[in-house]
Amino acid sequence: MIKKAGVVGAGTMGAGIAQVFAASGYETVMVDVKEEFVRAGLAKIKKSLDRLVSKGRMESADADAALKRIETGVGLAGLADCDIVVEAVFEDLKVKADIFKSLDEICREDAVLSSNTSSISITKLAAGVRRPENVIGMHFMNPVPVMKLVEVIKGLRTSERATEIVMDLARKLGKEPVLVNDSPGFVSNRVLLPMINEAIYALYEGVATAEAIDTVMKLGMNHPMGPLTLADLIGLDVCLNILEVLHRDLGDPKYRPCPLLKKMVDAGMLGRKTGRGFYEY
Ligand code: NAD
Repeated sequence: MIKKAGVVGAGTMGAGIAQVFAASGYETVMVDVKEEFVRAGLAKIKKSLDRLVSKGRMESADADAALKRIETGVGLAGLADCDIVVEAVFEDLKVKADIFKSLDEICREDAVLSSNTSSISITKLAAGVRRPENVIGMHFMNPVPVMKLVEVIKGLRTSERATEIVMDLARKLGKEPVLVNDSPGFVSNRVLLPMINEAIYALYEGVATAEAIDTVMKLGMNHPMGPLTLADLIGLDVCLNILEVLHRDLGDPKYRPCPLLKKMVDAGMLGRKTGRGFYEY
């Protein structure tokens, strides 16, 4: 039974995940490497809860109670008595693998260790710990409080017990869990990124303008947002990184990142976060 949840990383995803845990009644511990990052994460959560209250989607007393359920800390020591930990730090195998090794030392033996990674192998993260059966992927979508999906990723050695705990937990967080096996990009990015890449190729080859490509996908396929707008939102560096993982790990040339995407990343045009990608912001 999960009572206390830990979140490593107080960034975009970590703050969202901590908010959802706390709002669902779980004692929550959110940690990062510096006090200022923790404070920024907490501020993000406060802002998001305030917005829910102002829209009438949450009672103000419930928002206050959720905030009170969040403990914060610097470093991993505060996670020792958590029943589950969700790691949500930078998308870097070495950084994540080191964290899993430390969590293996710090956390109770029956605690579930999960990762919110978008593209790193869960099986690989599990290989570095003494309890690979308790390692699993819990892939939330951005923005976490809004998006319903949690892609639950079973590594090669993930146990049925850990899988059931996480599927059940995701439902208790008000999410819809979908179980998938560990494979590069899982399902979400395996299907999404080749579509985005193809849209970039269409632009690169002069098939149509960015606006035209996005409009075709919005009005013709009922996508809420065109693929190039979505790429700008995700960040073009993140898109390139995931495509490189698919290309390298699946070995199929169909995943080759479009040269235009590489060039834009080289130029520092990363989408919304830099003010310029396929569109200007
Ligand atoms: P982010 O850069 O906003 O936040 C990462 C946080 O991790 C930072 O605050 C950083 O200080 C912290 N961190 C780094 N090393 C740490 C350590 N050793 N211990 C504790 N904290 C540490 O990143 P993000 O967008 O929140 O992404 C986090 C993870 O979620 C990545 O694996 C990413 O692939 C995945 N993800 C992101 C999205 C998205 O849309 N942003 C969606 C799904 C999954």
